Parts: sequence; C-alpha cells; structure tokens
Amino acid sequence: MITNFFSIIEAQRFFFNTNQTKEISFRKKQLKQLLQVLKANEVLMNEAIYKDFRKSAFENYATELSMIYHEINLAIHSIDAWAQRIRVGTDLPNMPAKSYIIPEPLGNTLVIGAWNYPYQLSILPAVSALAAGNTVIIKPSEIAWNTSNAMAKIINENFDERILHVIEGGVEETSALLKEKFDKIFYTGSSLVGKIVMKAASEHLCPVVLELGGKSPCIVLEDANLKIAAQRIVWAKFINSGQTCVAPDYILVDKKIKEKLIQALIQEINQQYGADPQQSEGLVRIINLKHFGRLESLIEQNKIAYGGKTDKSDLYIAPTLLHAVNFDDKVMQEEIFGPILPIIEFEQLDWAIQQIKQAPKPLALYTFTNNRRKLQKIQHEISFGGGAVNDAIMQLTNNNLPFGGVGNSGMGNYHGKYGFEAFTHYKSILEKSSLFEPRIKYTPYTKLKMRLLKILMG
Ligand code: NAD
Repeated sequence: MITNFFSIIEAQRFFFNTNQTKEISFRKKQLKQLLQVLKANEVLMNEAIYKDFRKSAFENYATELSMIYHEINLAIHSIDAWAQRIRVGTDLPNMPAKSYIIPEPLGNTLVIGAWNYPYQLSILPAVSALAAGNTVIIKPSEIAWNTSNAMAKIINENFDERILHVIEGGVEETSALLKEKFDKIFYTGSSLVGKIVMKAASEHLCPVVLELGGKSPCIVLEDANLKIAAQRIVWAKFINSGQTCVAPDYILVDKKIKEKLIQALIQEINQQYGADPQQSEGLVRIINLKHFGRLESLIEQNKIAYGGKTDKSDLYIAPTLLHAVNFDDKVMQEEIFGPILPIIEFEQLDWAIQQIKQAPKPLALYTFTNNRRKLQKIQHEISFGGGAVNDAIMQLTNNNLPFGGVGNSGMGNYHGKYGFEAFTHYKSILEKSSLFEPRIKYTPYTKLKMRLLKILMG
C-alpha cells in the first residue's frame, strides 16, 4: 500500500504543473462533483458512522454533512470573488505604477484528519484546498475505520487520483506520507502528534495548519440565565459523547450559583437523554476500549454529582457531572474528550482567569453572562482560539468566523474564506510604468538627492 501512494503524490504534482487546477471553472466542477457524490452516498456514510460511534443519521447530518454541504456551496458561489486579483494603493516613491495581489494555489496538499468528526475534519479542509486550486490527498484517521473506508470508497471511485485521493492507514502510513514533499499540510488531532507533523514538515519547509485541542473552559457568572446556560452546555458537552475538540472541557462557576447550576444541568441531562441515557439514540458511544479505559479512570467516585455509570461491553459512559473538583485532580491534567464534566467553583473572577492563564492557551472559551464589563475583562485578559458568549460550540457553524487555535491549541485557521486563504499564496506585484525613471536612487549620491529622498520617503 505504501509503495503505490508515492506514484499518486508524483501524479498530483505533475498534474498541478499542467495549470488546469488554476482554472476557476475546473475548481467549481470538482466541488460540484464532490457535493453530488457525497449526497448520493449519504446512506453509506450514515451506516459507516453508526458502526464507528453508533451515531444517528440526524446527528451525522447536523454535525458533519450539513457543514460540508454548506462549505461546498459557499465556496462554489464565492471562488470568483476570492480568487480575484486584489488592487492595492501604490506608495509615492514607486509612482507611476499599479500594485496588486494575485491569489495563487500552493500546489499539492495533504489533509490529515482526526477521528472524532471523521467526515467533517477530513473533507472541509479538502474543500478549501480544492476551491483554492490545489490537488489534495486526504489521510483520514484510522481510529474511525468504517468512516475512513467509506470516504476512500466514495472519493476514490469518483475522482481522478491526480486531483483528489484518499489514502488510508495509521501511524506507519502517515509517517511515510510526512516524509514526502507537500506544499501545505493541514493536520487535525492532538498537540503531541501536531509536533511530529510540524517537525516532519520543516524538513521540506512546508507550511502547516495545525488544528489541535486542549482544555476549553466554560465560565458561568452569577447573572447567567441558568436554564438556557444548562440547556446549551449539556448539548455542547454531551453531543458526540464529549468527543468534540471545542466541547466545554470543564465549568468554572461562581460559588453563589453553583448548586443551582448543577440542578439545572441535571434537569437538562434528563430532558435531553432521559432517565437512562444508555437507551437514548442521541448518545453516541466512546470510540474504542482504549479511550473508554482512559475516561473511566478520570471518574473519581466520591466526586460524582450525577451519572458516573459505565458499561465496557457497550462502550457506554453516562453523561457525568463531577463536583468539588480542583485543578490538581487527575481529570484536570489532560483534555477529557468524553462525557465527563468537572465543575469548579470560584469566589473571585480574577482567580478563575489566573487559573486559565496558567494552563496552555485553550482552543475555545465560553462565557455565560450578560455582564459586559466582566465579559470584556475575560476576553481582554485570556488568549484562546475562539469562543461563544451564552452558547458553546455553535461559533464554528458560522463560516464567516475563522476557526482555529492559538499556541498549544494550534496555528492557522479555516472555514469559509479563511479556508481558501489557508491554501493560497498571495503573490504581490508592483507593475511599474516605463514612461520615465527619476535618477534619485542611483549613484552618485548627492546632497540634493538626499534631500529629495527624505521628502519622498518621509
Ligand atoms: P487521531 O489519533 O485520529 O490522530 C489524528 C491523525 O494523526 C490521524 O490521521 C492519525 O493517523 C495521525 N497520527 C496519529 N499518531 C501519529 C504519529 N505518531 N505519527 C504520525 N501521524 C500520527 O486523533 P487524536 O490525536 O486522538 O485526536 C484527538 C485530538 O484532536 C484532541 O486533542 C482534539 O481536541 C483534537 N482535535 C482538534 C480539532 C480542531 O479542529 N482543532 C478537531 C478534532 C480533534
């Protein structure tokens, strides 16, 4: 398997050099074809993701397919504008001239996806890469094996491998791919592997986008509407069983409303998942035994405020609330990435802000409040990838907003126009007139030339 993908990379490089992908009509054709083959294969994709996660068709549509379709449609309608030359002003010393920027595709690109939203995390970056006129190899995560197979089948049977191709495999295949030269690598996954990717890319001076993870805090202030906050937090935390990079990892709540918030969260878990969440078709399963074991070990029995039930044979972990948690607890030492929600109380907002700032920069941060002064303080003092106010996760569905991390949670961003930009080089051109050429910059340097230079250059 490894040997034959070298020829595909070569073929993509060769094809890119024919300049065909630079035509806007060509890019639109690929995107329309992608939309059409994905829609035609929805049943296959639903079946595969059910096998991997027991995820319902509803949730697959809501959290994966609809986002992909929306992104493709947006790109089809926007490429003409995005790919246009951008006219900019010219400075005085260069007059007469015109200045402009030409957006150009980077070349042959590699997208390495993660398992938790396997379609979205592999296909969305590929949509941006195609829209920007690149060729693309997608390497989905081997951990969601059925969805990886489905993507390989759907894409490889319907696309010219010189333009878009899926290469399946695990660490061995990814490591071999990373030895090759690409013009951009777009990686989604853990910070640990992000470092491996960046190191490998540096051998070829290949630029990278790294979409990583971390612990995303959720701050609930005294004045928050607790009913709405609980509704939205429960949805955001337990969708995909917490296996979401931007899920609220833990709650920091004002001590005065902690008990009320816990009661509201319990009520909402009941409302959304019923008295026995194991029977709910809305609760997906933990991806595998390794993650199940890791998550189970994070549940301290004496800290369970609600839930806590686990069933290894069913890879089931109940939506679980932990209280009386502190920052030294095991559950606070790593990104949880599962249906366990620790709740930490605070008396002073400054203390809460300091705790967050002592940890690596989060991918997301959520604030539940209508207190503008405190909200501005949080947004001003804490660095994080992006977030929402009085909501969680939903920020990433608005593709007018760039999506990405900062520091340990990643570099670069995508979605909508930002995705196009991630796969584009902006080539800047100064086009001079040949009508005349003042001799100021040429030797011999004279006092008069110096005076003129100072006037012109400021
Ligand atoms: P994963 O294990 O599926 O790994 C992601 C990719 O890295 C896979 O394609 C895998 O084959 C490859 N890989 C794994 N080990 C490798 C190695 N040693 N060398 C080369 N390649 C290797 O996914 P994961 O890392 O378990 O993903 C979970 C993490 O991803 C969490 O931290 C989560 O927050 C983060 N995440 C971030 C985003 C985002 O958009 N920022 C989205 C989803 C997940």
